[in-house]
Amino acid sequence: MLIRRLKLSGFKSFVEPAELVIEPGLTGVVGPNGCGKSNLLEAIRWVMGENSPKSMRSGGMEDVIFAGTAQRPPRDFAEVLLQAQAGDGEPLEVTRRIERGAGSAYRVNGRDVRAKDVALVFADAATGAHSPALVSQGRIAGIIAAKPAERRMMLEEAAGIAGLHVRRRDAENR
Ligand code: ATP
Ligand code: MG
Repeated sequence: MLIRRLKLSGFKSFVEPAELVIEPGLTGVVGPNGCGKSNLLEAIRWVMGENSPKSMRSGGMEDVIFAGTAQRPPRDFAEVLLQAQAGDGEPLEVTRRIERGAGSAYRVNGRDVRAKDVALVFADAATGAHSPALVSQGRIAGIIAAKPAERRMMLEEAAGIAGLHVRRRDAENR
């Protein structure tokens, strides 16, 4: 799956509608500290269904809505639209919107859908909110600084064998 375009409105620091077009040749987004680079990655995760406020660096999910500044009032909703090209070449458009007090609503290719349906869209692609292709800031440093046993756990998780230990212990106890 190829992510082609991201449109944000009221999402975190992106108070005014903003658009990121991802074309071949784009290799990086640069800017001063706090300009919103990490917020862009979080927007990609969020529109694909991320529901853990912690991975959005938020206390609660509504914290992704622009909170206001001394000069600007807060927004009452946040919306992110992701345009992608699915594995089969078909265009895919996913929108997630959250309103204060009303939770999240999703659309896929213009139709209202449930969160579950969005999870299915990304389930069999190597994408989705938990794709290993999305690496959060500090994660690499975290892996380097981890104790050997912790690092081993990360590697086993990545290799998909983390569950084997449980099954082995279970077998040994029989
Ligand atoms: P760095 O180079 O330090 O990693 P960055 O470009 O990754 O910076 P981000 O972490 O994406 O920056 O952006 C942080 C900014 O987003 C902060 O200024 C923070 O105040 C702002 N921000 C986050 N959530 C909200 C919100 N709900 N409302 C308004 N601003 C927000
Ligand atoms: Mg950052």
